[in-house]
Amino acid sequence: MYRGRFAPSPTGPLHMGSLVTALGSFLDARSHHGEWYLRIDDIDPPRHDKRSFESIPRCLESHGLVWDGDIILQSQRREAHEDYLSKLRHEGYLFDCLCTRATLGDRGACVSSCRGHINIDGSVRFHLPIDAPEILDDLFLGQEHTDSLPENFIVKRRDGLIAYQLATAVDDLDEGYTHVIRGSDLLESSLRQMVIHQALRRPSPEYGHLPIVTDKAGIKLSKQTGALAVDQNTPISNLREALAFLKQPSPPKDIDRVDDILHHAIINWRRDTLKSGNL
Ligand code: GLU
Repeated sequence: MYRGRFAPSPTGPLHMGSLVTALGSFLDARSHHGEWYLRIDDIDPPRHDKRSFESIPRCLESHGLVWDGDIILQSQRREAHEDYLSKLRHEGYLFDCLCTRATLGDRGACVSSCRGHINIDGSVRFHLPIDAPEILDDLFLGQEHTDSLPENFIVKRRDGLIAYQLATAVDDLDEGYTHVIRGSDLLESSLRQMVIHQALRRPSPEYGHLPIVTDKAGIKLSKQTGALAVDQNTPISNLREALAFLKQPSPPKDIDRVDDILHHAIINWRRDTLKSGNL
């Protein structure tokens, strides 16, 4: 059984880039007769925009992207996240790090002697084992070799907040997703999450990375850089635009209902057009 999800962070309204990801993950799930869930990744309160807890679900609904079950809040999993940290620590994967941004090395890795010392006030880092996976078999892109991962990465911040990599890696396991469809800006994150799965001796979901919508300057649209909110009054043209971006067959011009657009998109969903060469 296919079980997929869309997992936005509540840091602002959905923009065209996030609508594309939501649509791509929805279509991949529904075209495989799968379930599709909405998880709000609310584990970084300083970055939250309270209104987006409402606006994101409303925007998805106005585009016919209706999820199964209740909305899942990642913040509810705090205890489970701590349990996984204890387990990983017990197995020797974690160490405490006192580095600041200025003392961290290349790609944010700790390269000083934190490992091997007890640093109770530090952040918590995951040390990459030598057999960490380096290749990701992507559902759309085929075999993806990313740059090798940094030798360690953060799993709990110094301010006590659980880092995205840990929370997402273990929630994706426990919530039972068989497929994770997300933007290709998260390709390296997927690999980090696979390393965590391997350390926990649990199989990873299958991953599919979608192309990223950028602005005119080639910069990824993001809530942080103030990308415009999707206009909920024009769902049909938004969906058509998102489908065209995903190189999907365009629904006939006379279709003018959201559900009919989605129905057409589900039965015509193609993964092969998402190969990098075709973008
Ligand atoms: N919540 C994160 C984001 O919106 C991650 C999504 C994911 O894990 O697919 O970028």
